[in-house]
Amino acid sequence: MKRRNLFAASLAAGALAAGRKSWASVPEAAQAMGRTAPPGTVPALTPARVHADQIIDIKVCLRPFRPTGPRLEIEPVADKIVVHNYGHGGSGWSLSWGSAAMAVERAAPLMEKRVAVIGCGIIGLTTAITAQRAGMNVTIYARDMLPHTRSVRANGSWTPDSRIALITAATPDFAARWERMARYSWQTYREYLGLPGNPVDFRDNYILSDTPPDEADHTEPAPDISKGSYASTGVPQSEAEFAKYGDRIKDIIPAAELLAGADNPFPVAYARRKPIMIYNFGAFGHALLSDFYQAGGRIEIREFHSLSEVADLPERVVFNCTGYAARDLWGDKSLIPVRGQTAWLPPQPAANYGVRYKGAAMLSKSDGLMVQGVNLSGLGELEGVGNSMEQPNRAEAEQAVAVFEDLFSRFRPRRG
Ligand SMILES: Cc1cc2nc3c(=O)[nH]c(=O)nc-3n(C[C@H](O)[C@H](O)[C@H](O)COP(=O)(O)OP(=O)(O)OC[C@H]3O[C@@H](n4cnc5c(N)ncnc54)[C@H](O)[C@@H]3O)c2cc1C
Repeated sequence: MKRRNLFAASLAAGALAAGRKSWASVPEAAQAMGRTAPPGTVPALTPARVHADQIIDIKVCLRPFRPTGPRLEIEPVADKIVVHNYGHGGSGWSLSWGSAAMAVERAAPLMEKRVAVIGCGIIGLTTAITAQRAGMNVTIYARDMLPHTRSVRANGSWTPDSRIALITAATPDFAARWERMARYSWQTYREYLGLPGNPVDFRDNYILSDTPPDEADHTEPAPDISKGSYASTGVPQSEAEFAKYGDRIKDIIPAAELLAGADNPFPVAYARRKPIMIYNFGAFGHALLSDFYQAGGRIEIREFHSLSEVADLPERVVFNCTGYAARDLWGDKSLIPVRGQTAWLPPQPAANYGVRYKGAAMLSKSDGLMVQGVNLSGLGELEGVGNSMEQPNRAEAEQAVAVFEDLFSRFRPRRG
């Protein structure tokens, strides 16, 4: 088999379909959530120190959301062939490798050895490395290196169907393409597990609620018809408009387990535990750049102001991985900003887990303890939609921090 066909075959191999299931009742939800943790298997947890006066940084990011899903298309620009790879909403980290593989798959028939990648966020870097692995010589052109991109202002965990598309706007084949992307990414990320510095890792994530979990998490909110919809307003108006595909890959993603009685270490009625994949930005960025340079890659810091500047590049094939910036540079007004913010506290390796409670998320990573308001307003996936304000909001950060300050003030650690 030729290298190109091998590459396509490995992508296709990941595409196994699994049916969707909706939640109905408490017992059914509990059963579907997987087993209950065997008694005594939950480790004694060190409480996290989460206080507003410990915040060292607040980062704001715009999710590059396209109602139809990421743009993975070929477009001729002057004598160049541009392969677009942008618009991954709240799933860019998670889907990066799979999306990169699909972009490179589109470029492979062009048989071009020397290619350009515009952008050095998570999508640009993974596209560049994937192109190298397919035998191409790559130059990255970017205004910012990874540590200064919107990518490192994310949460950095496996969230492959977060604001990725709208049910009514995505084409019928998108669900299957999403599944190929997600499976390929998951597989590729596993290659970075266990490396020095833990660029990719797993954390136990505790999902807490004061009400039964199926009521808290799994009831799809009814759309408010008076607000209209994406079709009538051009912007999604209800959470139910966002496509969800997670069930298609549940055969490879660890399920949540209920922590009953003494195995629930938290001062709340309901706790579930689920291992999640996380990305430590510093270590992972370093690993990616090392891979890229070792394979002979070049990086040129450069800002493009128009498509004519792109047309002047020496390479004939150009991957466009400019994220939300594609809205201006490529005039793609279908890109909708979805603002999100993360607050960072000093790293706390002893409290090595994540928690989700009352619309806020906390995640202990090697680069810091991240706290994020994920649903403080009760808007769910609609939170931040259409908001392109990139200034930090201290009050919002403190509100999210206060959720955990209160939780841990009531926490009585069990002796291990
Ligand atoms: C709060 C928040 C939390 C998130 N959490 C997660 C998560 O847990 N998991 C997940 O999978 N996703 C998450 N995301 C989504 C994820 O961050 C994005 O999907 C992803 O970062 C998009 O990456 P990108 O490489 O396309 O864009 P960017 O990171 O924006 O990179 C774009 C690159 O293009 C370059 N560029 C742009 N314009 C020009 C120009 N004119 N000339 C030259 N270069 C240019 C930039 O310098 C940069 O290098 C989150 C997003 C937010 C807001």
